[in-house]
Amino acid sequence: MSSAAASSPGVRRADDWRRTHTCGELRAAHVGQRVTLDGWVHARRDHGGIYFVDLRDRYGITQVVLGAQFGEAVRLSGEDVIAVTGTVVARAPGNVNAERETGAIELMAERLELLSKAKTPPIDVTASDLPALETRLKYRYLDLRRPAMQKNLVHRARFISAMRAAFEQEGFVEVETPVLTKATPEGARDYLVPSRVHPGSFFALPQSPQIFKQILMVAGLDRYFQVARCFRDEDLRADRQPDFTQLDMEMSFVEEEDVFALWERVLVATFRAALGVELATPFPRLRHAEALERYGSDKPDARFGLELRDLAAWAKKSEFKVFHGALERGGRVLALNAGSVPFSRKEVEELGAIAALGGAKGLAWWKADAGGGTGPLARFAAGPLAAELMQLLAAQPGDLCLFVADAQTVARKSLNEVRLHLRNKLRLVDPKQFAFRWVTHFPLFTRDEEAGRWFSEHHPFTAPEDWALGGPGADPGALMSRSYDLVMNGWELGSGSIRIHRPEVQERVFEILGIGPEERQEKFGFLLEALSYGAPPHGGFALGLDRSAALTAGLDNIRDVIAFPKTASAADLMCQAPAPVRPEQLAEVHIQLAGQALEKSAL
Ligand code: ASP
Repeated sequence: MSSAAASSPGVRRADDWRRTHTCGELRAAHVGQRVTLDGWVHARRDHGGIYFVDLRDRYGITQVVLGAQFGEAVRLSGEDVIAVTGTVVARAPGNVNAERETGAIELMAERLELLSKAKTPPIDVTASDLPALETRLKYRYLDLRRPAMQKNLVHRARFISAMRAAFEQEGFVEVETPVLTKATPEGARDYLVPSRVHPGSFFALPQSPQIFKQILMVAGLDRYFQVARCFRDEDLRADRQPDFTQLDMEMSFVEEEDVFALWERVLVATFRAALGVELATPFPRLRHAEALERYGSDKPDARFGLELRDLAAWAKKSEFKVFHGALERGGRVLALNAGSVPFSRKEVEELGAIAALGGAKGLAWWKADAGGGTGPLARFAAGPLAAELMQLLAAQPGDLCLFVADAQTVARKSLNEVRLHLRNKLRLVDPKQFAFRWVTHFPLFTRDEEAGRWFSEHHPFTAPEDWALGGPGADPGALMSRSYDLVMNGWELGSGSIRIHRPEVQERVFEILGIGPEERQEKFGFLLEALSYGAPPHGGFALGLDRSAALTAGLDNIRDVIAFPKTASAADLMCQAPAPVRPEQLAEVHIQLAGQALEKSAL
């Protein structure tokens, strides 16, 4: 690490506590120099008279030697902040620590100053095993002191910075859009902010800058991007946070392939600059329907095979009633060949519990052999049926084949779970490999039977493949959209679409979604109006930066690349947010609490 972090030399007083170098900087070449280091007491060892301190800052750890002359002064506690001035000395050959970048030297202290005393910390910054999540979030500043977390945040910053540079290189203009705004639907609930000056009115925090970026295209900005904070009030999962960051962008006069090519260039540049990884482009394109058919998922991990096979025709020939029943009910019989795996019978049976995660009531298995094989399915795979099944599943003798017969969504979901489980259990993938796919050709609408209405599969601003929306009386369920997802290693990194730039088409889409003329005007009148003053055809995309930073750092939880994340119940444990507010403050924003909220808020 460069000495840029250390204070500028200038004239130093003898008692100047400011560092001349960082704790990660000193090498054999510095031997003989008089230096000052500042940092946290990482570890300390008392060798009877001589006291060793490992001094830590963001850049590394340096061993400091405090001789007998320091006496009582060396009663330091872990995490105390100290300044040490002394001379850099070479370590004896036997004492060189090859694992530490500063391991060739140590600092022979001449002056020690305690800059700040630390209480016994609830998190051991030096330990490799993690404390409980609540403790980590409550004392986040201590958790963030851990070198691993500092590395994560630095990685995130580098990743974002490289991506920003790539967008600038491509001629994109960074524009900030408002945080206090009107609802921008992306399928979640809004976070609302009451207005003081407009009694009874509320701002919504943006679920994405979607409408603003489209309006920027109408405004002629042509190429926009933003590192944008988005807010979605939804039930949290491991890879979700209520406020999160996207690399949001939009461009004019383009079609899908232009957006894909742009992003491929940006990602190549970003991965090269931030990770030193060369990505191969173009990323394969995969239709949504094909992704579901081959992988059982619209965000497939394409680093390995184990693809799903349709066994309906074979199942009809077999005598297995369960398979017949599923087909008669309009379901599917799907299977995958796990290959020749060294699983015990118990391990094979445990796969049933994995399939159940996707809703399957059972997982049939068969150890392939042209003579009939073994396992519960063997007696239905007699005679020529065995060889036929082996051919359908490209199975060699001894391969473990797994079957689900159920409703299509259940069969797919269940085998997807099994496929991903096998990936982890059998270590089928290289964690350093990145397999991108553009998933395309999603349906425009999906029907929610319970609500009795259509919903946008992406969002209501997504262009249909057919601008005429199938003509009068067409089935909305049959319409294709021009949206796309970018998927990497089984994760959705982002999504986007070509947008509707024709106001009459946008009106018609709102109509199909059951948004009547009045509501349309009230919620989206400004967009419809903007589109009526000459809107260029346009499209865009938003990449989840938290997830991208986490995955490229080899982490599977976005919390580890967010400095101050929230819990699964959307709370910040460190600053205790959300929190009740005083009645006067509520009155100012014209809000009166009722019922349970009133009881809970009592200050
Ligand atoms: N608004 C995004 C887009 O289509 C999608 C998203 O925010 O997830 O560009």
